[in-house]
This record gives sequence, structure tokens and C-alpha cells, in this order.
Amino acid sequence: MTLKNISKEVSECHIKLRFRRIPNSLCGSLALSYFKKFSMTRKYKYNLVRSRRSYIPAEIARLLGVSVRTVFRWIKKEGLQVMEKNKNPLLIMGDELRQFIKKMNKKNKVKLKSDEIYCLKCRQPVKGINETITIKETGKVIGKKERKQDCKSGICEICGSKIYRLL
Ligand SMILES: [Zn+2]
Repeated sequence: MTLKNISKEVSECHIKLRFRRIPNSLCGSLALSYFKKFSMTRKYKYNLVRSRRSYIPAEIARLLGVSVRTVFRWIKKEGLQVMEKNKNPLLIMGDELRQFIKKMNKKNKVKLKSDEIYCLKCRQPVKGINETITIKETGKVIGKKERKQDCKSGICEICGSKIYRLL
């Protein structure tokens, strides 16, 4: 499969494609799933970011496991505030960074409809095959009202993987 074909396939799936991220050895659907993995929005962990410290973009990139370019994109386009503009290197306050990441994670969260389960393999909300769906108590009690937690599980109708959702 040529890059052009992949591009077509990909644009049909409404996924922005960055070719340089796909190794040459990958092709077709494999490239697509590989790309999905890196292009889909993800959850960033900010537990290592200290509120009262300031960070340069390279440090942020290392802490969060993203590229420095990504950090600059956050600054230029996504509204991550720097302490002083036109300063080199740019400094970002830890507190601001934490707030920013929380906001991004929230934005990236996938909302599920009541009958949907998120498939980790397909990386999208899916419906389970009807006959395979079971609901079991997990034995945990959650929330202020001490509600019993349930786990709904089944088989993904798209890829056949096991899927589950905590209720
Ligand atoms: Zn699936």
C-alpha cells in the first residue's frame, strides 16, 4: 500500500496524518492503527509537575513524554500561558501547566452513551455483542451514597476484544 492510499484511507476516517511518524515497514491497516495510536488524544500525567516551580519547554516535554514542538504548539495555539513573553528560554509556571493539562485531559475525555463501552483496541466507543454482555458486582462501594459498583463486560462488536465498563 502506498502512502497515497493510506492517506485516502486515513482521511476517510477523519484522522490527520503525519507520515513521518509511520515507520516504512508498516503499511495498510497496520499503519492506520499505528497512526491512530499516536494521533488520538491521550491522557497526560502531571503528577511530576510541581506547582511552585517554573519549567522550560524542554523540561515539560521530558516530564510529559511529548515533543518540544508539542509544547510550543500548546503555547502558541492552545493557550498555555508563559510567565514572560519574548523571553528566552520561555518559562511556564508549574501551577499553570497543571491547570492546562487538567483542562486538556477533560477535553479529550470520550463521552460514552449509556449502551456504549470504550474498546481499548479500537480506541473508540463501541457496542458489545448483545449476547456477550454481562453485569457483575465488583465488590467495591463508591461515592457518598456508598453505591455498589458494577462492571459491565462483553465482546467488542468490531474487533472481538473483551471490553468492560465500570458502572
Ligand atoms: Zn474493539
